[in-house]
Amino acid sequence: MIDIGLNLTSNQFQNDIDVVLKNAQAAGVEIMIVTGTSVEQSQEAQRLSSEYPDLLYSTAGIHPHDAKSFSNDSIKSLGALLKHDQVVAVGECGLDFNRNFSTPADQLSCFEAQLELAVELRMPVFLHQRDAHIDFLRLVKKYRSGLSGAVAHCFTGDQDELESYLEEDLYIGITGWICDERRGKALQDCVDLIPADRVMVETDAPYLFPRDLKLSEDVSLSGKDKKRRRSRNEPQYLPHIIKTLAQITAKDEFELARQTAANSRRFFRL
Ligand SMILES: [Zn+2]
Repeated sequence: MIDIGLNLTSNQFQNDIDVVLKNAQAAGVEIMIVTGTSVEQSQEAQRLSSEYPDLLYSTAGIHPHDAKSFSNDSIKSLGALLKHDQVVAVGECGLDFNRNFSTPADQLSCFEAQLELAVELRMPVFLHQRDAHIDFLRLVKKYRSGLSGAVAHCFTGDQDELESYLEEDLYIGITGWICDERRGKALQDCVDLIPADRVMVETDAPYLFPRDLKLSEDVSLSGKDKKRRRSRNEPQYLPHIIKTLAQITAKDEFELARQTAANSRRFFRL
């Protein structure tokens, strides 16, 4: 199994990263791709992945929340990072008009510069979109023919959004959002439209703990400890996401694990 997106540079993992990775491997996760969200975080992600060759890879990019940090030097720094063998995609990049931590104008120019970089380096892009579908799709279409590949990471949209992405031949990243019967309902309803060779899976750890996941250790924990345990998502829960996705799409979970891993190897050239 391959986790195509997780935030291992988060300080939530700074004290026990070895244990987290060991537990993930014991659960059958063979490769994890550490998401870069700013120049500094991307450098950190590259450093971390170089410490665990063949197990960790990383991406290099600027998240729309961080678009305000973008400067002319940023593209130079990202370009240098992308020369490393273990840095396998540009991103995460995209648009997020949900909270506008950076202005839409800053987000648009930062996103477009990274699309240009991906085209220039012939590398795949790892995309983020929230509440910005129209502008996002416009820019993806503009650069699509020059992009070697593109994945809509942590897809949480509905059927219309999904169909417009598939029309652009995007890969789709599915997280534990699928495990939430309330806010994941629209996604659950359309997820079986994704062709078998376009789906990949990710935990987005430490975020997005799968809502329906019952931990056996939970039983012995008091209310407060239970809450703390459940606040941190980990790569070892990737099989649970695959299992849930398999149930919803009426597929065999082992075949889905094999297929998503094969898709990831092809997409990121692992
Ligand atoms: Zn994201």
